[in-house]
Amino acid sequence: MQARIALVTGGTGGIGTSIVKRLHDMGHRVATNFRDEARGRAWQASMRDAGYDITLALGDVSSAEQGEAMVAEVERQLGPVDILINNAGITRDSTFHKMTPQQWNDVISTNLNSCFNVTRPVIEGMRQRKWGRIVQISSINGQKGQYGQANYAAAKAGMHGFTISLAQENARFGITVNTVSPGYIGTDMVMAVPEDIREKIVAQIPTGRLGTPEEIAYAVSFFIPEEAGWITGANLSANGGQYMGW
Ligand code: NDP
Repeated sequence: MQARIALVTGGTGGIGTSIVKRLHDMGHRVATNFRDEARGRAWQASMRDAGYDITLALGDVSSAEQGEAMVAEVERQLGPVDILINNAGITRDSTFHKMTPQQWNDVISTNLNSCFNVTRPVIEGMRQRKWGRIVQISSINGQKGQYGQANYAAAKAGMHGFTISLAQENARFGITVNTVSPGYIGTDMVMAVPEDIREKIVAQIPTGRLGTPEEIAYAVSFFIPEEAGWITGANLSANGGQYMGW
């Protein structure tokens, strides 16, 4: 496959790092964002030591201005973005009757508004060049809901509506738009859950274990090659069989 320019948001995180590596291994030039300069540069150096040359751009994806500036910086360093993985995300869990406006807004703006903030600056260029790949990282909890995660489930379900609308609008321009919905993956996000609750979660997974970031990166990579050009508006569940609805 032709080498492309890829932007992975939240590429310094658990799943993001695996996606970054996978796209790099596929021969693409890869960029991600950082919010804290020192942490970002340390991550970049560790990647370089492991043989991965990754471009960094400052950006908080919950801000439209910063999303635009981040894309401009990536394009200044590498050229036009062909592949966008909307992966950055957070949780701020609480049962809804105790949820604060800040918990609601932080999760919606980081997980869902970010899709607007980062995709909007790349879509026109993809349409002009008649090629693009956009993948959202949603969640099993956007498919089935989750106690204590009304904010997160709403944001992650919203990503599906975003995906299938964008897929319809841009199919004629050689742009595919798809979603990967991971189940529980052993990253910091999930390891922060108390052990007794984590054990209960694992007991509900038919494979009997948490997933790995590499398994999610593999699912993402499925949508990227030329041969995947006819697959758009799809959702790929990668959840160890925990939820088999759609
Ligand atoms: P991590 O917490 O390990 O990584 C999250 C990444 O997102 C970090 O790089 C973080 O950067 C970045 N990020 C967070 N907020 C912002 C922001 N406002 N602007 C820019 N970057 C930001 O999470 P995971 O790797 O586990 O999760 C990745 C994605 O996968 C998320 O969307 C998550 O919801 C989804 N997911 C995860 C599952 C799991 O089991 N882990 C299951 C299902 C879905 P920083 O270092 O600056 O905070």
